[in-house]
Amino acid sequence: MTDNRYDAIVIGARCAGSPTGMLLARKGYRVLVVDRATFPSDTVSTHLIHPPGVASLNSWGLLDQVVATGCPPIHTYAFDFGPFTISGIPGIDNAPVAYAPRRTVLDKLLVDAAAEAGAEVREGFTVEEVLVEDGRVTGIRGHSTGGDTVTEHARVVVGADGRHSLLAETVGPDQYNEKPQLQGSYYSYWSGLPMHGRFETYIRPGRGFAAWPTNDDLTLVIVGVPFAEFRAYRQDIEATYLATLEMVPAFADRIHGATREARFVGTAVPNFLRKPYGPGWVLVGDAGYNKDFITAFGMHDAFRDAALCADALDQGLSGTHAFTEALATYHSTRDQHVLPFYELTAQLATLEPPPPDLAQLLSAVSRDQHAMDDFVRMAAGVTSPAVFFSEDNIGRILAVTSAG
Ligand SMILES: Cc1cc2nc3c(=O)[nH]c(=O)nc-3n(C[C@H](O)[C@H](O)[C@H](O)COP(=O)(O)OP(=O)(O)OC[C@H]3O[C@@H](n4cnc5c(N)ncnc54)[C@H](O)[C@@H]3O)c2cc1C
Repeated sequence: MTDNRYDAIVIGARCAGSPTGMLLARKGYRVLVVDRATFPSDTVSTHLIHPPGVASLNSWGLLDQVVATGCPPIHTYAFDFGPFTISGIPGIDNAPVAYAPRRTVLDKLLVDAAAEAGAEVREGFTVEEVLVEDGRVTGIRGHSTGGDTVTEHARVVVGADGRHSLLAETVGPDQYNEKPQLQGSYYSYWSGLPMHGRFETYIRPGRGFAAWPTNDDLTLVIVGVPFAEFRAYRQDIEATYLATLEMVPAFADRIHGATREARFVGTAVPNFLRKPYGPGWVLVGDAGYNKDFITAFGMHDAFRDAALCADALDQGLSGTHAFTEALATYHSTRDQHVLPFYELTAQLATLEPPPPDLAQLLSAVSRDQHAMDDFVRMAAGVTSPAVFFSEDNIGRILAVTSAG
């Protein structure tokens, strides 16, 4: 028998790992959370948290700390398609606004919350190897910066270690619904570009860009191109970035009066889902499924899955349910929720103009505030695309807008 010093070891301490560790520790489990980063630590992310993600932070008692950093609330989303704009309110009752806190701010807060809940947190700790005995994950081997290699065992190892997950690489889970990189983006931070509580996005054929406010009176502006053009974009980032903003003269005027305060950062990511559990292991966040960041769902998905995963692990660890049964429910609940958003994300990430039927529907939406709010709430992950694009709802939108 292995001596399990911990109930759970969590690899990765950002949006998926720290909340999973925090929630398990709050339930009284012995938890070790490790990350090779030391916090505060930035990462490649544009960090918009839609209202459902904000609701998670609120339910964990962490939202006040985010607000206290001076991060401005975002109360309106506007999608400018050129001929028309869909502008509405993404909020829900328990989270009326979105926020985009810098990852240096947010991730530190999440790590500290895990530690405060009683998890042992080791920053600057790199996992070199996931230990497997008789087909079951039993622990990790790794080292602190400059330290000796140590081995730790647990009843379960949680891979919250991002899309290049070492745990996933070790256990080789089924990977499905894979799609290649679809678009690539660069972003930077600007001063002198006030957003007045608005998230703005501009969709043009083969191009997309968006802007929203974050900490320190800065505005994040991201510009994307189809993946086939990403290599060329990389060769002269600033030229492509600024030329794209010039496609919308009113926005270009605002950028001309603003100052870029940071270097350009960017990437393109693949799209996949993985079976997130097996003997002695579970995946959460990007390690379990990764999708293009065009819809900005990664963080609130990670939060939601951390809660689902922690509940499932609680059932398995406490023995109220068999591990396999509890984690199978985590898997199916995740996929049921995420698949319609995943397909919508992949479609948007092509940056192709909407097909005629969809363009007609979107134009109709832009003529009715109720329909615009519904659309915006779908874009914010509040309402499922399966509901928004249902025959009944489309019929209702077309009836209302043609009558008006
Ligand atoms: C360009 C871009 C823009 C994005 N914009 C948004 C957005 O606006 N809104 C949004 O919601 N989402 C966005 N996302 C997605 C979002 O950033 C991710 O979904 C989210 O960060 C996933 O969190 P995670 O905890 O699962 O993984 P990660 O954030 O990848 O964290 C994984 C952690 O694991 C640690 N780790 C990995 N391997 C090891 C190891 N062997 N040993 C020790 N530690 C290890 C890493 O150091 C890291 O800290 C964006 C992503 C990209 C690429």
